[in-house]
Amino acid sequence: MADINLNSKPVVPYRTTPFPGWDEEVAKWPWELIHKDPPIVIWGKEGTCPYCGDHMSIIEAYRPIVPGLEVSRFIEATRNNGIPETVYVWCNCDVAHPPEATHQGCGQHARIPFGSALPNPEL
Ligand SMILES: [Zn+2]
Ligand SMILES: [Zn+2]
Repeated sequence: MADINLNSKPVVPYRTTPFPGWDEEVAKWPWELIHKDPPIVIWGKEGTCPYCGDHMSIIEAYRPIVPGLEVSRFIEATRNNGIPETVYVWCNCDVAHPPEATHQGCGQHARIPFGSALPNPEL
């Protein structure tokens, strides 16, 4: 039986060399506050990978430095102290891109802005 590609989208080869514009595009997706209850604050973003066209997501989790600190104040504190300016991200789509047999992304990765790119939380 022939493989049927429901999206009629070609499966691109696994590629670790930077695809032009990949980092800029992923950087544009907004960070969302996914989880704000102590002891962990989690930021994330998701979208369509600019290289392979599959869905990918990014999760960044941080623990408060001071237990019991009000969450809004914690986020502000970590924004200035503990949250990195940039984070290393990669495509985590669940499609196998040949010659890689694993379903762990298309190989694209980059450093993108984080600390200064976070929105002000609505708490
Ligand atoms: Zn993919
Ligand atoms: Zn990808």
